[in-house]
Amino acid sequence: MIQNKPFLFAAAALLTASVISGGVMASGSGPHWTYEGHEGPANWGELSPEFAACGAGKMQSPVDLADANADGQVTVDFNYSPAELEILNNGHTVQFNVANGSTMTSEGKTYTLAQVHFHTPSEHPISGKPFAMEAHFVHKAEDGQLAVVGVFFNEGASNAALKDVFTNAGTATAHEAKVAGASVDLRGVIPASPTFYRYMGSLTTPPCSEGVNWFVVKEPVEASAAEIAAMTKAFGHNARPAQNANARKIMKPAN
Ligand SMILES: [Zn+2]
Repeated sequence: MIQNKPFLFAAAALLTASVISGGVMASGSGPHWTYEGHEGPANWGELSPEFAACGAGKMQSPVDLADANADGQVTVDFNYSPAELEILNNGHTVQFNVANGSTMTSEGKTYTLAQVHFHTPSEHPISGKPFAMEAHFVHKAEDGQLAVVGVFFNEGASNAALKDVFTNAGTATAHEAKVAGASVDLRGVIPASPTFYRYMGSLTTPPCSEGVNWFVVKEPVEASAAEIAAMTKAFGHNARPAQNANARKIMKPAN
């Protein structure tokens, strides 16, 4: 449901902001949005009719994982192979695209990995407390359904699997670029025996589309303070606050 008045106000403000900023859109398409101020998460739903789910949706992401209300053993089979690094900074995150046929299979469905991007701090908190960083592995099934695997990072040892990503984050531009000789050990980012939080949610950025299958790995991995700082420097704070769980089933790993 779009409320006309606030929307018109937001549209006028958007136009003004767009003129002030020279009309440059960070992501290259769609209305401008940010992580703070007037175009921040609290107002995303009013920035554009196509962003309506951000404000009115009842199955939004992220959620606070302390809201988990069911135990479940979720199995995910990863069929990931090392990928050449094709990196970009879309103004909201640093992302690398994957087109090497890496897949994940769960609940009888196979999803193909399309891209991996990062949030600092993590988007999914536990009792309000975020991790230092969260990676999102975005997959798509043949029928168009999305599955996102979230991986948490604590500050600690250097992350060998993602070393080339962290090294090149600062120079990534809005245009995807293949970095000669750089690669990502995709499987190496996922812990050896992962267990999962599992729930139905949404994209955590506009247009906040719902119907996204979330698999959040309980066991955090590590990246060095310098690596996390390099990512934070590249895109700043980009974590949407936790959304209302509403009537959703949110499964946590059975002990
Ligand atoms: Zn994300």
